Amino acid sequence: MSIPENLQRVRAEIAAACARVGRSTDSVHLVAVSKTHPAAFVEQAALKGQVDFGENRIAELEEKRTALQALPLQWHLIGQLQTNKVKLLHGDTILHSLDRISLAEKLQSRFAGERIRCLIQVNCSGEASKSGVDPKEFDALIDAVAARPAIQVMGLMTMAENTHDEIAVRRSFAQLRQFSERLAAQHFFAGYAGWLSMGMSGDFPLAIAEGATHVRIGSAIFGGR
Ligand SMILES: *Cc1c(COP(=O)(O)O)cnc(C)c1O
Repeated sequence: MSIPENLQRVRAEIAAACARVGRSTDSVHLVAVSKTHPAAFVEQAALKGQVDFGENRIAELEEKRTALQALPLQWHLIGQLQTNKVKLLHGDTILHSLDRISLAEKLQSRFAGERIRCLIQVNCSGEASKSGVDPKEFDALIDAVAARPAIQVMGLMTMAENTHDEIAVRRSFAQLRQFSERLAAQHFFAGYAGWLSMGMSGDFPLAIAEGATHVRIGSAIFGGR
């Protein structure tokens, strides 16, 4: 299938998942994950109205931004960011992977006097291979982030376990939602938007059922990597 057809099918599946749980389709943003694929693929999706694109490497993101600067795209960095690469981060990018205090410190010095929109990534599944802050260290991280005014926290991000065990997957998504609800109830971050970035090609309907506002979908749109 072509990228336009895949995009149309994914949009229909998002709408169906929203309908099943009584949510409006507008409440879920599709972030098309274009990592490893050429800028021409991004352009094909953009011509079908896709605006949000995700990459997991900053250098690749910046290459595609430059190649496609004529198009009005919103870029999301969804992969781990090394502190020595913070200097490459553009102030318009939305960072989904703020996961440690040293990164918060670097973001503050790079964006002092400005705002950089971030989501805090939480390792809800507890797998050693997954990035994200350990839930036990979440409170220490949010205290450190709250003390750094350049960081505008929009919400939280997680990756569920890659498993057919739907209960385990939903448990991770529900845990992220609960962390976010607590931040919102406490008015912990000024301007907190309650975004929940969760759900990929294999599990996004479950994420939508648990409240995802941003689903990050790659292979279902652009094919295998
Ligand atoms: C690659 C990636 C995705 C998309 O994965 P698919 O299974 O291709 O949809 C989503 N989130 C993150 C953090 C990724 O690295």
